[in-house]
Parts: sequence; C-alpha cells; structure tokens
Amino acid sequence: MSNNDKPSFTDISTIGEFGLISQLTDNKVSVQPSTIKSIGDDAAIIRNEQECTVVCTDMLVEGIHFDLMYTPLKHLGYKAVVVNLSDIYAMNAEPKQITVSVAISSKYSVEAMQELYDGIYTACKFYNVDLVGGDTTSSPRGMVISVTAVGQANQQDIVYRNGAKKGDIICVTGDLGAAYLGLQILEREKQIFLEHPGVQPELEPSQYLIERQLKPEAQRGAIAYFRKEQIIPTSMIDISDGLASEIMHICSKSGVGAFIEESKVPIHPDSEKTAIDFKLDPITCALHGGEDFELLFTIDEKDLNKIRYMPEVFIIGEIVDAADGIKLHTSGGNIHEITAQGWNHFRQ
Ligand code: ADP
Ligand code: MG
Repeated sequence: MSNNDKPSFTDISTIGEFGLISQLTDNKVSVQPSTIKSIGDDAAIIRNEQECTVVCTDMLVEGIHFDLMYTPLKHLGYKAVVVNLSDIYAMNAEPKQITVSVAISSKYSVEAMQELYDGIYTACKFYNVDLVGGDTTSSPRGMVISVTAVGQANQQDIVYRNGAKKGDIICVTGDLGAAYLGLQILEREKQIFLEHPGVQPELEPSQYLIERQLKPEAQRGAIAYFRKEQIIPTSMIDISDGLASEIMHICSKSGVGAFIEESKVPIHPDSEKTAIDFKLDPITCALHGGEDFELLFTIDEKDLNKIRYMPEVFIIGEIVDAADGIKLHTSGGNIHEITAQGWNHFRQ
C-alpha cells in the first residue's frame, strides 16, 4: 500500500467488541443443513445425523506464523481457514463449519478486521463451510488467530496416518516446494525494502510461488474424486511441514518404510529455477519446505487403475518393510536416507 493510498482507520473502541462482531458477521446465511444455530447465541449447534464429527484447530501468531509486512490481511484470513480445512480433508472428511477466535491489539482498525473477515468469508464460500462462532479479545501486541474446523465423515471412510502397508503406492496431489520458495522471495524483497525503502519489490515474475505461499488451497477435489471412484486411501496426511516429515509420520504410525523416486516428485518449473537462484536444491525444497497443503496418501495396488485417471495426482514411490527404511532414490542413481532435518544432505 503506498502512502497516498492510506486506508481509513476506525478505532475498534468506537464500535466496541459487540459492534465489531456484528459488523464482521451480520447478514451471513448458512449453507450447511447441519448448521442448526450459527453466530448469536452462547454456542453454535451442529446436527450430526449418523456421521462422525471430525475436529481440528490451528493457531497463527503474528511474528511467528505470519508477517503483515508482506501478508495482506485478506490473504491471512483465507489461509487461516484453508490450513484447517486441509486437516479435515486429510482425514477424508468433508468440512462443514468453522469457528474463528481473534486476539488483536489497538493497532488494528475496524477496516483491518473487515479485510481479515473478507478473506475468511471468501474461503467459507469457496469451500462451502459456515462460520458459526468464535471469540474476540484484545492482545497487548500483535494478532493471534485461531480457527477450529468441524467436518463430517462416515466412520468407514475415515483415513488415518496408520494404515499404510507394504506394496501400497505413494501419491501426492500437486507440486511441492513452491510455498517455501515463495516465502524466500517475500523475505528477500522485505529485506531489500527495509534497506532501500524507495525500491519497488520485484514480485511479478514469481507470482506462482508467492501465490502458493500467500493463498494456498486445500485439496477438496481429491476427496471428491475418492468418493466418486469409491477409493479409500490406506493412509493420508496433508503436507504442512514438507514431504520428508509427512512420509516419516505415515511410516512411523504405520510401522512401514518407503521408497521415494526423486524424478517422480512433482516440482514446478518456477520452483526449479528459483531454488537454483537461491542456491538451493529443488528436491530439498520439496522434501523440507512445507506449507504446500497438498495431500500425501497411499493406496492399495489394486486401486492403481482408479488413481490413474485422477486429475491431479503424482505417483512418487512405494511402501516397503520398516527394515528397509525411508529412502530417496535420486535421479543420479544413488540412495539416500530421508531424515527430518535434511538440509543440504543430498548432494555434496
Ligand atoms: P460470549 O460472551 O458467550 O463468549 P460473545 O459475545 O463472545 O459471547 O459472542 C457472541 C457471538 O458471536 C457468539 O455466537 C460467538 O460465537 C460469536 N463470535 C464472537 N467473536 C467472534 C469472531 N471473532 N468471529 C466469529 N464469531 C464470533
Ligand atoms: Mg466470547
């Protein structure tokens, strides 16, 4: 935002907590039949019928999880919702409702909160979920946002981390490493701006990577495809911390090992190029970058034909015995153990 385009600043104290809540949430119509009571009473009511309730929460702290120097509040609101929906999809469940709790310092105006909620409601609309409640309080410094998502699934459809078995095929739903590289670009441009405030950031050529960082999406299409094709993955997890960490979770919970083919791991051409610009190895970014919010899942071999026609899927490896470890077959023909902190492990 340039200086001559200053947004108006209405102090929240002029309308108060209740005024803020109603300004942010009034006149919204619920879309989920299971939403019986939304915002406006002591608690929301969700009717569950025969299904299981799936619940998850994520908290985002300013200065730790987000930097408002390069994160527009609208994107922050959107992402805060998406990261939670991603966890619900990772259980092969359908998200239905969310609650949003915020702690804010006096530096945030009503307009700033409105922007945050624009992003939150944009995500709600896109993913067909209702915002049914939350809490609003003050903080001595900065902002904290906590989103809780509620989903539903038939008990027999739920996919855990612990079901992978030898011979299963390992798949991911999209390219990896881009969100991490987007963050590197934003951090680089922030440093340049701090040192030379007059310099305009060079973000245009990196649009794809920056969007992967600032506006990630949850993989609702994958879950819809599983339902349509009657596929139930044997295990699943969303990629928030990087492929290495997530495959290790699946393997440790399932008591198995894994072979991953480096050449099969999807990496976007922009990620390849930018990794090299930063003197990073693209596969290292894919393994350890995180925040891509793709799904990593395993399927029984018999479902291979069904998965072949999935619109966005990449087969990257195979589940093996625990004794065979968790290994990466590199494009150069070497075999490396995958570890949690593997920076610069792979090529000397
Ligand atoms: P209580 O005093 O019972 O905690 P509040 O006054 O905090 O109630 O909240 C009133 C209503 O507004 C409740 O339905 C609550 O879930 C909702 N609400 C409060 N803060 C938020 C928020 N930040 N986002 C969405 N809903 C909120
Ligand atoms: Mg309250």
